Amino acid sequence: MPSNFAASFSRVALSATIRLMEKKLKLLTYGCQMNVADSERMAGLLQQIGYTLTDDFDAADLILINTCCVRATAEDKVFGQIGRFKALKRLKPSLILGVTGCMAQKEGADLIKRAPHVDFVLGTGQTSEVARVVESLERERRHVVDTSNVSGEIPTEVFPLRGGQVSTFVPIMYGCNNFCTYCIVPYVRGRERSRPPEEIFAEVRQAVAEGFKEITLLGQNVNSYAGGMTFAELLTACDKISGVERLRFMTSHPKDLSDELIDAIANGQHICEHIHLPVQYGSDEILRRMNRVYTVEKYLRLVEKIRAAIPNVSLTTDLIVGFPAETDENFSETLDFLRTVKFDAAFTFIYSKRSGTPAATFTDQIDEATKHRRLDELMKVQNEISLAKNSALIDSVVEVLVEGASKTDEKIFTGRTRSNKIVLFTHCDERAGELVRVKLTHAQTFLLKGEIVRA
Ligand code: SF4
Repeated sequence: MPSNFAASFSRVALSATIRLMEKKLKLLTYGCQMNVADSERMAGLLQQIGYTLTDDFDAADLILINTCCVRATAEDKVFGQIGRFKALKRLKPSLILGVTGCMAQKEGADLIKRAPHVDFVLGTGQTSEVARVVESLERERRHVVDTSNVSGEIPTEVFPLRGGQVSTFVPIMYGCNNFCTYCIVPYVRGRERSRPPEEIFAEVRQAVAEGFKEITLLGQNVNSYAGGMTFAELLTACDKISGVERLRFMTSHPKDLSDELIDAIANGQHICEHIHLPVQYGSDEILRRMNRVYTVEKYLRLVEKIRAAIPNVSLTTDLIVGFPAETDENFSETLDFLRTVKFDAAFTFIYSKRSGTPAATFTDQIDEATKHRRLDELMKVQNEISLAKNSALIDSVVEVLVEGASKTDEKIFTGRTRSNKIVLFTHCDERAGELVRVKLTHAQTFLLKGEIVRA
């Protein structure tokens, strides 16, 4: 990373250049936080060759679709979207249309065969090439497909064009080595590569200098960070960076969450008391078929340890229903598991068959009606738990990081507690990025409401 002075000097020069030759970029991002972070990095690279962001498809000189393929529905959405751009390209032949991300990695040249109006396809290891490819297409129009190196080098010297104004993401590693049998990620994002700590610290300092108060360190499994220090050491070092008000991380694989990390959270100053700990299922038989490498009992012991060490910690999780061979008995074990752990919230998904993964070849797939019935039941149980957990917080006073006006009423502001719960409160003169104290007065399943407490 260049020094702060060099960085700000080059940015001044950069903004002067941009004013001279402004071109418009419309960026569409699907999928997870990792994709959001990748999009911000690509936008930063494209800014360096004169592109500024627009919301207007008609004004765009470049449309970039950063894709996800974790579920079939995400892929269908992208293909639908790409199809709609055909007419736009007919009206404006100079428009460049590019597809990047996980689906680009998976489909490669087949994507161009299916949609020849797409100009370029870049896989997950080639996102740092985006500006070079776009510049070459500005000079000479042809199809470019590069998915050659799924475990490609992590780009350095990138200045992400960050969205939002309070919270932002800093990737610490890319890829995954775990090969859960349902998951396409290791195939489309490659093996684990960790960024050096100094680069991560520099990026956190850069985000703070841009005014961000809350930083989330990102990786498919942050606990296996291997950049020359442990993840707990990295987190503790980021906690000490001046100006970081809140520090979060995701995602943690339960098999790798260490005692050292639990201690780091318990003793950290700005490290938030929230752990997203995807369990995926609540029965050993299915966990084994998923290749999750832990048992229900081991997970429960980990939860006990976390709750003993970190008072008021909130725990959230991911769950998949309808995995091949799931029986009514497996499913009812999972409901019992939910009632035992009492997660603050759970992100629940129907199993989606992804070709190329081992689970797609399992013969005992579950029918759609059963999957949907089980999902409804699972959500009903979890929603009751979430409401009970939120209701238990009524009358307490919590620290809220203000995010801004709510989408539906500008007199109501929204923010999050350290435990990552959404809080709505009546706005007085607070600003986005401020930490305020709120007395909680009402609880709903997915949010809390309250009043600002002065002094
Ligand atoms: S840990 Fe499992 S679910 Fe998570 S990205 Fe890796 S393979 Fe996919």
